[in-house]
Amino acid sequence: MKMRKAAIASYEKNEAPVADVVLKKGRERAVVRRHPWIYSGSIARIVGNDPEPGDLVNIVAADGRWLATAYYNPLSQIRARILSWDEDETINTTFWESRLERAISRRKDLSLEPDTTAYRLINAEADLVPGLIADRYEQFLVIQCLSFGIERRKGTLVHVLSALLSPEAIIERSDLDVRSKEGLPPVVEMLSGQYPSSTIVVRENRKRFEADLVRGHKTGLYLDQRENRSEVCQPEFVTGCEILNVFSYTGGFAVYAAAEDAKSITNVDNSASALEQAKRNMELNDYHRPKDEYILGNAFRVLRRLREKGRKFDMVILDPPKFAHSQRDVRAACRGYKDLNLQALRLLRPNGRLATFSCSGLVSADLFQKVLFGASVDAGRDIQVIAQLGQAADHPVLLTFPQSGYLKGFLCRVI
Ligand code: SAH
Repeated sequence: MKMRKAAIASYEKNEAPVADVVLKKGRERAVVRRHPWIYSGSIARIVGNDPEPGDLVNIVAADGRWLATAYYNPLSQIRARILSWDEDETINTTFWESRLERAISRRKDLSLEPDTTAYRLINAEADLVPGLIADRYEQFLVIQCLSFGIERRKGTLVHVLSALLSPEAIIERSDLDVRSKEGLPPVVEMLSGQYPSSTIVVRENRKRFEADLVRGHKTGLYLDQRENRSEVCQPEFVTGCEILNVFSYTGGFAVYAAAEDAKSITNVDNSASALEQAKRNMELNDYHRPKDEYILGNAFRVLRRLREKGRKFDMVILDPPKFAHSQRDVRAACRGYKDLNLQALRLLRPNGRLATFSCSGLVSADLFQKVLFGASVDAGRDIQVIAQLGQAADHPVLLTFPQSGYLKGFLCRVI
């Protein structure tokens, strides 16, 4: 995708709601409980001007009670996303400054720097900034605008982020499918500054990783797996062990396993460029491991081929991409998860470990556990859960917005 220099919109003034969005009777409950989304089906009528995509609106209960200020999008099933439940709060540059500043300051508690220089600064709804993701990669910022409301205020947001962090560049990676649900096209562009001509190197728990902020997945790396990489690749689980790292991407788990002297690491991914980057990440950390394997192929088939060859491993890591994109996909997604986990269990030695993940928000941890149970029964193996895993702390889950918790995993022992 081509990069272009975006025009930065000028500073915004105080914004005024253009209309009242009146909810159906009873639909105020979720709003009062601070869920930030208003679905189209909850709306009774609109009083005032017809709001344009991204316009501010008041959210009003059926009995006329003011509930919240939100931005509106007639093109999306999520018609409005709430910015404030406080009637006295004005939406202007100071509002955004304060929201972004608070989200960024909360990361200080996590003491990520200096060992880790790539992490999430703003986690959209879960940081009370609906629709905006901002990740830091060394001195660069990568943002994703997931809603029309954020898209329209991008100029202000870039201005505020620049003022708060003085990044060398701000890159927009709004090349996500969810944008189409908002009526927005995919966009990859430079919003400020200059991106270096090659990939950059970041640190994660003192390990070094190449990150391609323009062409890499998500904003470059899977930052949400950082804590799990440490948890899964503890010396007692990986030192001297044969590891099968399925859906390896650029070798996140592999580098951690190499750091603890895994005997061998077999990486599987269907992206040749990801596997090449995984090899370079090993070199970048001075791990010289000529016996490691990099298998390019469809994981579902590769796992079967490994079994046919009689291969066995001490640990299998399964970190597939999102399988369920809508409620309709959930059944098929579960079949996919079950098959993968069944194949993985068949490759494990007695007492082997399985680290298995699902990043499908629509597949709950309970459902994922049931799928794993099904796979264990079919494989005829007993499984103990050693740890339940989630997303890293810089990707917080907001209790009032359970959709913010999407990554779940189990670290298991197979007996
Ligand atoms: N574990 C990685 C992230 C994995 S992301 C980390 O820690 O960084 C999922 C990966 O699965 C991507 O690299 C994608 O290229 C790969 N992938 C998607 N579908 C696949 C398939 N059917 N077979 C093999 N790899 C696949």
